[in-house]
Amino acid sequence: MKIGFIGLGNMGAPMAANLVAAGHQVTGFDTAALAPEGVAMAASAAAAAKGAEVVITMLPNGAILRAVAAEVTPAMDAGAVLLDCSTVDVASARDVAAMAAAVGLGALDAPVSGGVGGAQAGTLTFMVGGDDASFATARPLFEVMGSRAVHCGPSGNGQAAKICNNMILGVTMIATCEAFALADKLGLDRQAMFDVVSTSSGQSWSMTSYCPAPGIGPKSPADSDYRPGFAADLMLKDLRLSQEAAEAADADTPMGALAAALYARFVEEEDGRGRDFSAMLPRFEGRRRASP
Ligand code: NAD
Repeated sequence: MKIGFIGLGNMGAPMAANLVAAGHQVTGFDTAALAPEGVAMAASAAAAAKGAEVVITMLPNGAILRAVAAEVTPAMDAGAVLLDCSTVDVASARDVAAMAAAVGLGALDAPVSGGVGGAQAGTLTFMVGGDDASFATARPLFEVMGSRAVHCGPSGNGQAAKICNNMILGVTMIATCEAFALADKLGLDRQAMFDVVSTSSGQSWSMTSYCPAPGIGPKSPADSDYRPGFAADLMLKDLRLSQEAAEAADADTPMGALAAALYARFVEEEDGRGRDFSAMLPRFEGRRRASP
């Protein structure tokens, strides 16, 4: 397929490289990043999009996505598909899909989970919103870049699934970390804590697959001094998106709100910036009940 790829950062570059390796013809554009091997770089986003059957975007946020979409949609061929894989707010995803539909283009919002490792290995999970025809067009690309694509319904539903999932993840990671810190203070051995919780009703992905305690459970960022992994900054971004969506939809999400506030403090006032999101454990370890 002829593909335009806009946003070749930590995630976009390995995703584009996998498409090239699978035999697709990829033309890229990025305001800063260097070209991944095999990707022809264009002088503008519009030039990268021109003539492509699918234009993939992997950008930092909704405002940038809106600006790029406004530039590329007039340059795209009728019937082509705009496939956004960034994590953005639900409203931006829906507005961009409407912008694309107005000029005869298909559109999908397809945020991912799996991080940079999943992007490199081609094992991302895509959560996809949009129409069936566009999903069918993009399916072979999802198969190259990932191992799973779930069609979640109309435009915006991919972003909705992503932020709901990550709201659960943020909350369970905090709960797992504070429980480890409590266990420490009660004199409960961390291995024993893991052995019980990982096979009991407190079990979650945060405990069993991404254990925040070093040396316990499968290998995780805790074993590499909390180098990300999934950075606390990105968790904060996703939790804020969940709270923005909850506000707009009038949904009551007290645990999500508290998780967003804790990650905001951790990243913006403490030492969380650039650390893995599971570094909440050393944060709790160093605190006492009375501290704010
Ligand atoms: P990144 O900052 O490494 O990459 C973004 C790229 O977009 C950069 O290279 C930047 O130069 C480029 N860019 C910015 N404005 C542009 C413009 N107007 N035109 C063209 N290029 C532009 O970020 P990333 O880690 O690759 O993340 C990309 C998206 O994926 C984000 O929405 C993020 O939330 C999401 N995501 C990231 C991860 C992760 O682990 N890194 C995991 C899941 C989802």
